[in-house]
Amino acid sequence: MRRQEEQQLQAIQELSSKKDEFISVASHELKTPLTSAKAYLQIAERSASNSPQVAKFVSGALKQLDRLQKLTADLLDVSKINAGKLDYKMSELNFSELLQEAVSNFQSTISTHAIEIEQNQEALIECDWQRLEQVVNNLISNAVKYSPQANRVVVASSIIQNYLVVSVRDFGVGIPQNRIHLLFERFYRIEETAMHFQGMGLGLFIVSEILNRHKGRFWIESEEGKGSTFYFMLPVKGAQNVHEEIDTEYNYSNSHIAIAVDKDKDFLNVNWLGFQDNQSVRHGCLKMLDMLKKSGLRKVFNDNRNVLGTWSDAAEWVGKDWFPMMEAAGLTHFAWIYSKSTFSQLSADKSVDILQGKVVTRLFNNGKEGEDWLLKV
Ligand code: ADP
Repeated sequence: MRRQEEQQLQAIQELSSKKDEFISVASHELKTPLTSAKAYLQIAERSASNSPQVAKFVSGALKQLDRLQKLTADLLDVSKINAGKLDYKMSELNFSELLQEAVSNFQSTISTHAIEIEQNQEALIECDWQRLEQVVNNLISNAVKYSPQANRVVVASSIIQNYLVVSVRDFGVGIPQNRIHLLFERFYRIEETAMHFQGMGLGLFIVSEILNRHKGRFWIESEEGKGSTFYFMLPVKGAQNVHEEIDTEYNYSNSHIAIAVDKDKDFLNVNWLGFQDNQSVRHGCLKMLDMLKKSGLRKVFNDNRNVLGTWSDAAEWVGKDWFPMMEAAGLTHFAWIYSKSTFSQLSADKSVDILQGKVVTRLFNNGKEGEDWLLKV
């Protein structure tokens, strides 16, 4: 039986790699004729200047060719990603120049929306210019596509805690909360909107791959019917991690967390601050563990209201490894106050879903309710 399964698995893998190879060859072969057809049409466009009717048709054909080129480029990228062959040419650059150029280039191709740069922070980033421009283009192009009733898209970048945070905001159809975490998967498209908008569901998959390779992270905030904001953040080159620590028997704080032993309320009061990554979550959690042990307290008020972005890379560790350590150290009740960030909420849900043991954990939107619960139990 086992042998049969192995054979089946091998057959599936071979078929899948043949399919990837086919996509790769086909999209590669499509590139050359498309480029020539576009060149011919561009010449025709110039020659058709005295016939508005013909010029209109030619420009229509050129637009469709652009779409076709984008689709084949996406397919080619995906086949390269699957084969681990998407190449990156890394160099140091000022991201504000990239953003400005990407927005100007994009604006020159559309008249339906104004792409506004709200803030453009200078920041040195180690990256592949073309690939990151592709990320920005993809996000702006989605923002335009999924907001047909709106006439503007707002782009911004700023530095927060040694990271450059870039956002692309639209005022369009929005995304249902229960689908938001699936968007970066290959071929994923939201059913309700898929039939109204053309696409293959590859753009965001490629975006996530490129950002991962830049040690970046991404997340989304969205409200159905009101619009979405797509964020990504990249480490800034040469930024020093200012790590001022206060570490006493009753208090601990650094730039990511503040922990206080509250003997009156009989719980550990924990306030997470700003962006978190795998390292900051682990460090903060282990500090909590240490203080729980030393103080003899059994309850934790875990406040995420000031948390921004996503910390999904640490969520599994928190649920699987850290909670059991906390339980062994005496933890009985854990009040978890949600962040406003959807992706941070999803990470908290994930940790709670996988944790086992006897600790009673409750998630709250409201800090007061969480505190009242802890005081009662
Ligand atoms: P495509 O647009 O080709 O379908 P993407 O990978 O770029 O593929 O996006 C995946 C899905 O995510 C889209 O089909 C759409 O449902 C949703 N989506 C992406 N961007 C937005 C946006 N700005 N607003 C609403 N939904 C979006």
